[in-house]
Amino acid sequence: MIGRQERWQEDLFVACPLRELIPDDHILKRVDKVLDLSWLRDEVRDSYCLDNGRPGIDPEGAVRLMLAGLFQGIVHDRRLMREAQVNLAIRWFAGYRLQERLPDHSSLTRIRQRWGADRFKRIFLKTVKACVEAGLVNAETVHVDATLIRADVSWESLTERHADEVIKQNPCTDDPDDGNRPGKPGRPKTKPKNAKKHSTTDPDATLTTSCKQVRMEPCYKQHTAVDDKRGVVLDVEVTTGEASEGERLIRQIDRVEDSTGRKVRTVTADSAYAHSKNYMALENRKIEAVIPPQTQRKKPKRIPARRFKYDGKHKLVRCPAGKTLRRSHREPWRWIYRARGLDCRNCALRARCVPPSAKVRTIAIADGHEALLRARRRHEKGWDRPTRRVYHRHRWRSEGAHGEAKNWHALRRAFRRRLWNVEIQAYLTAAVMNLKRLARLEELPGAERAALRQSAALLLAILRLLGQLEVRQAAEKHFSSPAWDVAPSKQHIFHLAA
Ligand code: SF4
Repeated sequence: MIGRQERWQEDLFVACPLRELIPDDHILKRVDKVLDLSWLRDEVRDSYCLDNGRPGIDPEGAVRLMLAGLFQGIVHDRRLMREAQVNLAIRWFAGYRLQERLPDHSSLTRIRQRWGADRFKRIFLKTVKACVEAGLVNAETVHVDATLIRADVSWESLTERHADEVIKQNPCTDDPDDGNRPGKPGRPKTKPKNAKKHSTTDPDATLTTSCKQVRMEPCYKQHTAVDDKRGVVLDVEVTTGEASEGERLIRQIDRVEDSTGRKVRTVTADSAYAHSKNYMALENRKIEAVIPPQTQRKKPKRIPARRFKYDGKHKLVRCPAGKTLRRSHREPWRWIYRARGLDCRNCALRARCVPPSAKVRTIAIADGHEALLRARRRHEKGWDRPTRRVYHRHRWRSEGAHGEAKNWHALRRAFRRRLWNVEIQAYLTAAVMNLKRLARLEELPGAERAALRQSAALLLAILRLLGQLEVRQAAEKHFSSPAWDVAPSKQHIFHLAA
């Protein structure tokens, strides 16, 4: 039978609180239970005049609006305010009544400018602290990775630095002969070799690419540290796209230890972090480095540096012909060792060893070279099973976190220009991800969660006894998945038992 809905009848009053109109399993309702921003008002008090001016919008309300937008992948303020106008859940979450006028979208921009990135960083760090207190973080194993965020600029805004320098050095004046006067700065004679384009609309973004097959794009780079236990984002740093991730590893670990108050025992990262300095620093701190060394070229043009033996005790290097290379000079993070001219001149290996433009062979020994050799040997021998397993987790933990941020919270592209704006976007996105993990923890009562975990352990034990390797491996993989980690469910167990 066809039903009929009377569309012209409207209610004059809503006879229940706004909260009751929102389903209990709605993400904003669940997050509201774990989000505490009561401290924010005091935190930002110094950004406002206490006795003059029009009252601004409530700081907590503004942050809740921004977070609500990110939960739904809405990053543009205009779109967010249009959505908030009709979305009951966002209104309720931000603390606005049904008839209340919402702030103008420009107020959110003004708040970001007024507070600066540091305030948003504190909001993110508070979520990390909440996760630590809720037992979602143990910080023993930390996965570190970096990802590119496309800057919000057009291709037309890109120009070569060289062209900019020329324009700067030859200012346009009304007098056409002005540029020819003696003493005026002249046009540079040669174009710099590494002339790279940059954006005139967002000078902080730099051209970079994630791999050789993909063209360079104006980007920012987010450096992320993720906890192994539940995938909580522990640290976020945003830099220009061309910044090296390997240079930032140790500072990031320091920040993780500061924010969690725990000692990191294992760090996993990809080969972009395989710097000898990092291996050395991690060894000194007694942190296990699960970082594969960079692969070496199989058919090098010249005798590779690895064929030269470094003697750390006597601070010298021996070449394949058995000659000694001694320290020549120091560069910022390495020593340059140099062979004697006499040795190389009479050497049978000279053609394969010394480049045509040089007289003798030089070798650079970076700080921490011995730690790098140890890491290389360990990797060549083959990592043991627990190490391989933890590196396997690195893939889905850190890359999964980046995928989640980009696919669900619109971090694929920066929505504002300049570094501090992208930092704010990254901090809020990481805060949203942590709040989701906290909210999921609330879903199941503790006793029920523990019972489900026991059932899973029992099921695994039975599979082990039965000796069904393939099924057991599938079950183990399933029980170490992020979905199970955060919210174990009966369906998972029934499915596997079947
Ligand atoms: S060319 Fe010089 S550095 Fe190279 S193997 Fe011969 S002596 Fe050693």
